[in-house]
Amino acid sequence: MKIEDRTVVTLAYTLRLDSNEVVDEATRQEPFEYVHGAQSIVPGLERALSGLEPGQKRQIIVEPEDGYGEYEEGAIIEVPLALFPADIEPEVGMGVYLQSADGEPMPYYIRAVEEDVALLDANHPLAGERLHFDVEVLAVRRATAEEVAHGHVHAG
Ligand code: ZN
Repeated sequence: MKIEDRTVVTLAYTLRLDSNEVVDEATRQEPFEYVHGAQSIVPGLERALSGLEPGQKRQIIVEPEDGYGEYEEGAIIEVPLALFPADIEPEVGMGVYLQSADGEPMPYYIRAVEEDVALLDANHPLAGERLHFDVEVLAVRRATAEEVAHGHVHAG
């Protein structure tokens, strides 16, 4: 069947940047699964995968605005390490949520950890990057009603 909204898609892929650095991959042995149409992958990739079928391979280039967004200057804040919960060891690249003034959870990524503070960046670590995906569609099946409602795949 073809990839469309409310299907569960199984992919193998390699994600490279313009520099050719590989920043993410999923293999045939350890593939990636997601619910198509649930906005759980970057919009440019989701759009390009629509209509593909198992066995098809594609090279898909996603511009920053259809990927992890443009890099916004001034999006970095300092948070004292003492404010992190005791059971969390802050590490570069880790995602954390802070509450905005109106109480909404806002995603941040740890950009650096210094002696007393962590620098948190509202930009995704791949913001501003053009994404080069080499994708192979391994399987496509209809999602269950529960998977559609949750927006993620449930184990068989
Ligand atoms: Zn669930």
